[in-house]
Amino acid sequence: MNNITRGLIIGRMQPIHKGHCQVILKTLEEVDELIIGVGSAQISHTLKDPFTAGERILMIKKFLVENNVDPLRYYIIPMEDKDINAIWVAHVNMMTPPFNVVYSGNPLVQRLFIENNYTVKAPPLYSRETLSGREIRRRMINDEDWQSLVPKSTVEIIEEIDGISRIRHLTKKEKNEI
Ligand code: NAD
Repeated sequence: MNNITRGLIIGRMQPIHKGHCQVILKTLEEVDELIIGVGSAQISHTLKDPFTAGERILMIKKFLVENNVDPLRYYIIPMEDKDINAIWVAHVNMMTPPFNVVYSGNPLVQRLFIENNYTVKAPPLYSRETLSGREIRRRMINDEDWQSLVPKSTVEIIEEIDGISRIRHLTKKEKNEI
């Protein structure tokens, strides 16, 4: 790899929040280039995964622009899930430029890459009680402050796509549901 250090971070980022952002900016200090994989790219419009891969790519891109990160230093790549965990790393490999270090706090992601002989680093968790996708989605549903937990540009995108109406609509049960 011509001595280039190219890192991989993979996450659902539903939505991207300030914890992801700190990890991304910190990792960019360590690597020459960073691949940001948008995980579970095929899933959207559910309470756990309300935003499409395209919307999440937009959020990540605008955050990086907001922070003046050189666009030559990163790749944002949607990554669909595979039913078989044992072949997922091969799938990720096929979809990305070559990389030599993986940054993840997710034990399954760590394990799968370790078993494929990658160097895996676990970044520190920042304010995990509030900086978590689940907490942010809960606040969106309950009309509590979620805006302070995500980048300014992400607030603008969620407003632009009417994301709060979407997630609240998804909490309704169908009228004739038994
Ligand atoms: P996530 O958005 O919850 O987290 C992404 C990363 O950010 C993780 O490394 C996490 O540790 C870190 N992070 C989260 N909150 C943080 C905070 N407050 N401070 C610092 N870091 C923080 O996404 P995830 O669930 O870890 O994403 C993994 C993706 O990989 C999923 O889409 C999953 O489906 C996919 N995956 C797929 C397969 C398969 O298809 N077989 C197998 C394994 C993983």
